[in-house]
Amino acid sequence: MAAMRLFSPAEISCIDGAFCHAERLAEKHFRLVPEDWKQHRYDVKTLADLEAHEVSETAFAHLCKYHYVKEDDSTVSDFHFYRVCIQDNRILDAVERGSSFVKLIPLLLYIATHELTHVIRFNRGESDFDASLEEKVREEERVHSITRQILKPIADRNLNLIIDCFRDRYQIGDIYN
Ligand SMILES: [Zn+2]
Repeated sequence: MAAMRLFSPAEISCIDGAFCHAERLAEKHFRLVPEDWKQHRYDVKTLADLEAHEVSETAFAHLCKYHYVKEDDSTVSDFHFYRVCIQDNRILDAVERGSSFVKLIPLLLYIATHELTHVIRFNRGESDFDASLEEKVREEERVHSITRQILKPIADRNLNLIIDCFRDRYQIGDIYN
């Protein structure tokens, strides 16, 4: 099997930038303040750091939910968080195949905004992480629609092309796992 392609350190900093930008956009759309991210807890890992079950053959990003309990002398921390598992090789392939028009930064911004929208909706009880596949497919449509609403006002030509790709031929792939 060929080695899977991984993001370079420079590309990983583009992911950090994309999530940072997506947080600001989501705050505006969902009327959040920065402290709300303590409730909408998530982390982001790229392929090099993923466990086997976090790797997907078909997705750009795979969303996992984890429950975390930690007991210290006097306090118990007990919370859940979501992990956005970025599938470097699938994203790099899409950028390579779409050579002149699929750009990495707008693609990452779309993925980040989409994943944060899932996280916020799960935490607000507007959608259920463990829903039936049928319901997940409907939710996926809603999340794409919200992602478009969030991104359209700031979209330049390259971002508009990405938005159109997700209407026509791309899927994030995060619901099938
Ligand atoms: Zn999704």
